[in-house]
Amino acid sequence: MGSHWLAESEHLFPRQGKVRGDLKTDVLVVGGGFVGLWTAIHLRQLDPTCDVVLVEQNRCGHGASGLNGGFAMSWWPKIASLCKACGNDDAVWLADQTTRNIQGLQSFLNGFGHDVDLMQSGWLWTATTPAHIGSWNTVVEKVANLGRDGVFQQQSAQEIADRTGSSKHIAGIVEPINGTVNPVKLAAALVQIAQRLGVRIYEQTQVQHLDRGRPAQITTQEGTITADKVVLATNAWAASEPELSSRFVCVTSAAFSTEPIPERLADIGWTGGESITDSQARINYYRTTRCGRIVFGKGGGKLTISGRPSASVFYDKTLIDAALKDFRRVYPSLADVKIERSWSGPIDRTYNSLPLLGHLRGAPNINYGVGWSGNGVNPSQIGGRILAGLALERNERWTKNGLVGNHNRRFPPEPIRYLGGNLVLGSVRRKDAAEISGRAPTVIDRKLAGLGPSGLEDK
Ligand SMILES: Cc1cc2nc3c(=O)[nH]c(=O)nc-3n(C[C@H](O)[C@H](O)[C@H](O)COP(=O)(O)OP(=O)(O)OC[C@H]3O[C@@H](n4cnc5c(N)ncnc54)[C@H](O)[C@@H]3O)c2cc1C
Repeated sequence: MGSHWLAESEHLFPRQGKVRGDLKTDVLVVGGGFVGLWTAIHLRQLDPTCDVVLVEQNRCGHGASGLNGGFAMSWWPKIASLCKACGNDDAVWLADQTTRNIQGLQSFLNGFGHDVDLMQSGWLWTATTPAHIGSWNTVVEKVANLGRDGVFQQQSAQEIADRTGSSKHIAGIVEPINGTVNPVKLAAALVQIAQRLGVRIYEQTQVQHLDRGRPAQITTQEGTITADKVVLATNAWAASEPELSSRFVCVTSAAFSTEPIPERLADIGWTGGESITDSQARINYYRTTRCGRIVFGKGGGKLTISGRPSASVFYDKTLIDAALKDFRRVYPSLADVKIERSWSGPIDRTYNSLPLLGHLRGAPNINYGVGWSGNGVNPSQIGGRILAGLALERNERWTKNGLVGNHNRRFPPEPIRYLGGNLVLGSVRRKDAAEISGRAPTVIDRKLAGLGPSGLEDK
C-alpha cells in the first residue's frame, strides 16, 4: 500500500510546523498540492511584496499530487471542451500555454537546481481493441482546423506496437511534447522553490472554518489566520463548500508500480520513455520510470457519497485488481514481473473534465481552483498563474479568459448523484469490457455510459 513515489522520495520534503496562535497575511493559499504550490510561487514571482501563507492539512504533496501517474499532459486532447467552454481564441491560447509549460518546466527547475526526472518522450494515445481505433480522430481534426496540425502525429500500427512493446496496441497517435515526471520530486521541488521565494508554509494545519468576510477569517485546529485574499486549492476536499460540491464528483483512480525491469523493457522494446493510454472510458495509463519500473494506472473507480475523499479512496482494491488484470492482458510477456506497490487516490471530476476557477458567491476575495479531473500535473501551472492573477486583482488575459468563472453542468443532488452515478459507472464498466472482448455493448449500456462526465480526452 502507498504510492511508489512517496515511498521512494518522501524524504525530499522539508517538514513544516503547524499554525499556532494568530497569523495575518495578504494571501492565504489552502492546499499543498500542485495547484496551491504553483499559486504561491506565481504570487511571489508576480509581486515579491505580497505576503503569502500556504497551509496544508496533512503534508505537502501527500494528496493527489503525490499519488498520480506523473503524466505531464497538454490540454489539446480536451480542445473541443475548451472551445465550448471559452471560445476558440481562449481555448487555443490556453492549450498553447499548456504546451509551453511542459517545454519550459526543465529550465524553470534548473534555475532553482531541481531535477524531477522529466522525460519529454511523448504520449501515445492508443487502441487495444478494434472498436477503439480512431477514438482520437475528432480531436486531431479539431486541432488541425484550429491551425495546430503539428500537435499530434499519426503512427503506423507497427510503430505503435514497437514503441509500446506490445502488439496489443493496434493503432494510435503520438503527442510528442508530452512527458512524464516523478510527481513527488516535482511537489518537493515546488515546496522548496516556494519557500525560497518567501512563502510561509504550514503543515498539519486544517482549515476548519472559513468566514467569508473582508478580510477573511480562517480557523484552524490551533490558531486563526486573517487574510485579505484566500485561494482554495483543495481538490475534492472543496466539496465542503456547498456551491462547489455539485460541480464535481469524487471518483478514485488507482495505480501500481513494478519492480525495476530495465532489461525486460529492452527486450520488448519499450525503451523510449513514452507514456501510454488506451481508449477505454475507464482509461488505462502507463509509463516507465527512470530506473526501469512500470507505473500502470486505471481511472473510473468508485464514487464517494459526499463528494469528499473518504479514507477508502486511498486504497481501492477493486480498481487496483482491474488495473492489474488489464496490465496482464496488454503485457502478457511480463506476467511474472513483481508488483511492488499499489495505491489509489481522489479525482475531482467535473462534467466536462475542465477545472473550476473563480470566486465563491459574494466573496470576490476567496478564489478557488479545483476539478482538475485527472489532468493536473501540468495544467496546475496554468491554474496557479490564473489564481495568482485573481488574488492580485490583475487585469490581464490570465484572469479574463473564458475559463475563469465558467460554470459547467451541475451533478444532481445526493442521493441521486451517488445512485445514478453508480448506475452509469456500471454501464461504463460493461461497455468497456464488451469492447475489449470484441463484443458490441448493449444499447442500454451505451446510452447510460454516455451520460457520464467527459474523460481525459474528448472523444
Ligand atoms: C491515482 C491518480 C493518478 C493520476 N494521474 C495523473 C497523471 O498521470 N497526470 C495528471 O496530470 N494528473 C493525474 N492525476 C490527477 C492529479 O494528481 C491532480 O489533478 C493534481 O495532483 C491536483 O492537484 P491539487 O493541488 O488540486 O490536489 P492535491 O494534490 O490533492 O492537493 C490538495 C491538498 O489540499 C489539502 N487540503 C484539503 N482540504 C484542506 C483543508 N481544509 N485545510 C488544509 N488543507 C486542505 C489536501 O490535504 C491536499 O494535500 C492523478 C490522480 C490520481 C489520484
